Amino acid sequence: LIEIKELKKSYSLGESEIPVIHGINLHIEKNEYVAIMGPSGSGKSTLMNILGCLDTASSGHYYLNNIDVSTLDDDALSLTRNREIGFIFQNFNLLPRLNAVQNVELPLVYAGIASNERREKALKALERVGLSDRLHHKPSELSGGQRQRVAIARALVTNPGILLADEPTGALDSKTGVEIMRLFEELHKEGNTIILITHEQEIADYAHRNIYLKDGMIHSDKPNHQRKTL
Ligand code: ATP
Ligand code: MG
Repeated sequence: LIEIKELKKSYSLGESEIPVIHGINLHIEKNEYVAIMGPSGSGKSTLMNILGCLDTASSGHYYLNNIDVSTLDDDALSLTRNREIGFIFQNFNLLPRLNAVQNVELPLVYAGIASNERREKALKALERVGLSDRLHHKPSELSGGQRQRVAIARALVTNPGILLADEPTGALDSKTGVEIMRLFEELHKEGNTIILITHEQEIADYAHRNIYLKDGMIHSDKPNHQRKTL
């Protein structure tokens, strides 16, 4: 599903190039459940942005479903992103003026799906995350956990197959965080590939594989035999 070869990334800062990822090799199969960990500044979000086709590598290759993403132009890149990836962020990234259904429908608006079909899919996704009773609430009228559920419904609504979550529990109290982890566990059982970024070992303990980044390199990559289940 995901194959990364000698991937490097540097950011240009004025005249200089600051290297951030120093040659990563990584293989992730369909339906894996991976946690990527590492200290602040180790390159987790940078790697996630590349995995999610939000950004491209400076060198090396990223094959997603055997397509070399590094060779795609911007339009092809965003098509691939919209089709393959669902994003979940620490701060939910919901639009405050739109209600739950409208937020979940947004990716389908971009995909040019007709409104009745959009509505149907959004209702189904919200039902999947247990929010059928909060359809017309705006983000400010929802709890943190409910906001994250809306964001997960939005990620699921296009049926992407890969869910990329950057610190999905970072803004939640631990009980609410555990509920979100339960949802990820179910989504994994339903066949989704889940890649989550966290700096909390307690969260990584739910994943089946733990990868540690350090200074832009993979420091360790191990199956999680003692994983916690919910
Ligand atoms: P955190 O746990 O704090 O979120 P992280 O592991 O996600 O950290 P990244 O955001 O990937 O770290 O950043 C890795 C390095 O790249 C950092 O040193 C950061 O300063 C630098 N960096 C990130 N984004 C940019 C950018 N757009 N321009 C320049 N440097 C950047
Ligand atoms: Mg980060």
